Amino acid sequence: DTVDVLQNGSATNVIRRKLTGFVGFSNLPIQWHRKSIRNGFNFNVMVVGESGLGKSTLISTLFNMPLYPPRSEKRPSADIPKTVAIQSISADLEEGGVKLRLTVVDTPGFGDFVNNEDAWLPIVENIEQRFDAYLEAENKVNRANIVDNRIHAVIYCIAPTGHSLRPLDIEVMTKLHNKVNLIPVIAKSDILTDEEIIAFKARIRADLDYHKINLFETPRYEVDSDETMEEKTSIISKIPFAIVGATSEVTTPDGRVVRGRKYPWGVVEVDNEDHCDFLKLRDMLVKNYMEELKEYTNEILYENYRSAKLTAMGISQDQSVFKEVNPTVRQEEERALHQAKLLKMEAEMRMVFQQKVAEKEQRLKQSEDELFARHREMKENLDKQRRELEAKKSQIESGRIYMSTEEKSRKKGFSLRS
Ligand code: GDP
Repeated sequence: DTVDVLQNGSATNVIRRKLTGFVGFSNLPIQWHRKSIRNGFNFNVMVVGESGLGKSTLISTLFNMPLYPPRSEKRPSADIPKTVAIQSISADLEEGGVKLRLTVVDTPGFGDFVNNEDAWLPIVENIEQRFDAYLEAENKVNRANIVDNRIHAVIYCIAPTGHSLRPLDIEVMTKLHNKVNLIPVIAKSDILTDEEIIAFKARIRADLDYHKINLFETPRYEVDSDETMEEKTSIISKIPFAIVGATSEVTTPDGRVVRGRKYPWGVVEVDNEDHCDFLKLRDMLVKNYMEELKEYTNEILYENYRSAKLTAMGISQDQSVFKEVNPTVRQEEERALHQAKLLKMEAEMRMVFQQKVAEKEQRLKQSEDELFARHREMKENLDKQRRELEAKKSQIESGRIYMSTEEKSRKKGFSLRS
């Protein structure tokens, strides 16, 4: 049983056969599992939304620990930043022998000002800096242990207004959606009724469609079982997730102890799908699709950023996103990247040099002008003095003529009289 497979344009013979005896590679998933346990995992999530929307509570609810103290406790109001700040906090978590280093990036100050223009800027800059750091690490000689600090998901908290998205939401999501896996959630959804949530979700989805904002959707594969397909569809149908966060336990009227929020009219349960979409968010972010979020970040979002960046630097890229890593190509890329860096540095140095020369010339020209001006002034002074002296001289001379005629006439008078 041989199959002709077209690979890179050339046909190869691939033999398809079910093995009859034990060979051993069926153990690969177990080896993979052991390796992952040994290495542990990391996951970086960013939460964006104005203060008071329950971001800290949501993160603490997701990871079931007060990783991130509520803002009210965290910071006295005098400390509130004047611009959007970026704060990251990491924790090493362990569950069933699996280690996870979780990093939560918070954006205090976002949406809190009268003028929220450019509120997206520090957020996008932070995401890009993380891509740049990864790109740089990849281009180093030693790339053995690259720490992946890229943002794998952004939870975007929408205020439970019940209207539609605000211009700020649309602006920020437009700037973010091609750089991160965007997961919009309706924060504090317990303040809306079920009908309000349905209508609000529909309007948000229409807004997102209209503005062509891409959201993270769990990719579907051919090998997915019907069950998995169904689960993925059900998760996607709930986006934007209506969220209720609560870290403390309360007792329901029927005597169960649950994580939830207690109201005079009853209890809103966090872990109950009839009450909110918290479990769906947890499925997507933590339980089922964390690896896919990371994969999508690495293979699509980061690759797009990387090739756009290299193209901008004048290095043309293979169009295929999933291209094989060929060492010569990689070396060539690194060389080209280095060359581009050198050229850029050279250009910068040349620019600085030219600027310095221009400044010096300007200064020389200025002192030359000053010298000319002084020279002219001195010349004018001298001319003036000369003119004055000449005037005096002619005065004296005319005085002398007057004196001599007087003398003459005086002498004459004397002789007449005598
Ligand atoms: P942050 O500033 O966005 O981090 O918000 P916090 O997590 O500090 O929460 C602000 C306030 O909202 C606190 O009093 C929380 O108890 C409350 N809160 C958090 N999540 C929810 C929620 O899902 N529903 C309601 N009604 N209140 C919430």
